[in-house]
Amino acid sequence: MSVELSQLEQVVILGASGSIGTSTLDVISRNKERYDVFALVAGSNVEVILKQALEYKPRYVVMQEAHAATSLREHLSNTSIEVLSGTDAMCDIAAHPDVDIVMSAIVGAAGLLPTLAAVEAGKKVLLANKESLVMSGKLFMDKVKHHGATLLPIDSEHNAIFQCMPAQVQRAEQTNFNAVGIRKILLTGSGGPFLTRDVNTLKAVTVEEAVAHPNWSMGRKISVDSATMMNKGLEFIEAKWLFDCQPDDIEVVIHPQSMIHSMVQYQDGSVIAQMGQPDMRTPIAYGLAYPERIDAGVKPLDFSDMRDFTFTHPDYARYPNLKLAIEACRLGQAATTALNAANEISVAAFLDKRIGFMDIFRVNEQVLEHSTLKDLESLEEILDMDSQARRLAQQMIANQG
Ligand code: NAD
Ligand code: MG
Repeated sequence: MSVELSQLEQVVILGASGSIGTSTLDVISRNKERYDVFALVAGSNVEVILKQALEYKPRYVVMQEAHAATSLREHLSNTSIEVLSGTDAMCDIAAHPDVDIVMSAIVGAAGLLPTLAAVEAGKKVLLANKESLVMSGKLFMDKVKHHGATLLPIDSEHNAIFQCMPAQVQRAEQTNFNAVGIRKILLTGSGGPFLTRDVNTLKAVTVEEAVAHPNWSMGRKISVDSATMMNKGLEFIEAKWLFDCQPDDIEVVIHPQSMIHSMVQYQDGSVIAQMGQPDMRTPIAYGLAYPERIDAGVKPLDFSDMRDFTFTHPDYARYPNLKLAIEACRLGQAATTALNAANEISVAAFLDKRIGFMDIFRVNEQVLEHSTLKDLESLEEILDMDSQARRLAQQMIANQG
């Protein structure tokens, strides 16, 4: 029995109660002979985590909020599950010597420190939390290399790009696109719920309309980001760091059907695309089992279903946040850190109904304009830039009211 158990790969799920977290548990439940849940980590949702803890019996549960941990501790008092709280505990668990795989699926900047802890411990890190890479790209990727961590992209586009890349690029042995014959990355996006809506009515978009994505079921923050296409902007920056390339090597293509999840165009004229259902269990299963393949519970594509397959260029008047993010990518780390922070604050304010849909862009743009962009070398400088931009965004929102 003990031999069998030791063969199971031990998985920590950061953001277990969320959309990616629950999809990860679903894939694990289909592959119990390979994976065991070592720890569940989340913010404050006691109800969901309690249910998951009773089902998956992890060794640890870590909650951001102390009151959530206290409540869970009471509910789990007759089990051997240890309940902890706070960021330090999350980092310790992500770096625990018995852990093999860390799923990074906390939403926003809150994911950075636990993800870096996993990287520094040389784990296999499955990265859904794109914000951590947008905040700290160079530092993050340098640490991956330095500590010998294995980084696998879970964001569906980046997972698709990774799958379409030559093996030398996947293994990070070669990052020069020219040397492996790559012309560019084609980063696809659906265009979200407002692809065809009259642009003049966008300022009246409600929260309910913004979070209703036509193809993907996701958390609220990324759903709003998809509606503004800031999500594609963050993904543009994410791709630059993950694949060690330049902004000119990446082109955004609108593909409303979300069946092609991104492509790589080669110098010989070939384009390699990865296709599948819009279901995050596919990239999650890919990341868990890489380089092998496992069942993800995803139904196969039926090509007779696919009548329309369309592609267009993004319209920046409709998606000014996308343009802003690409500009920030060209400006460098300070700009993307500031933009990510501003966007977290403006999206939260929109979700709280304190600002309108188009104000998200206005706040983001103003924060970028008013930020002093200097080189960010250390984690302290990055976190400092993040806090400054958050304060600026809060001020701008308060001034609007
Ligand atoms: P979600 O809102 O559904 O879940 C977020 C999770 O983070 C929850 O478990 C929540 O408890 C936890 N959390 C929030 N704040 C925390 C904190 N301070 N400390 C610890 N835990 C905290 O979000 P989601 O849709 O699952 O997205 C998670 C991440 O994955 C995001 O970065 C998102 O951009 C990325 N992503 C999601 C999808 C998707 O389909 N949902 C696709 C690609 C990438
Ligand atoms: Mg994506």
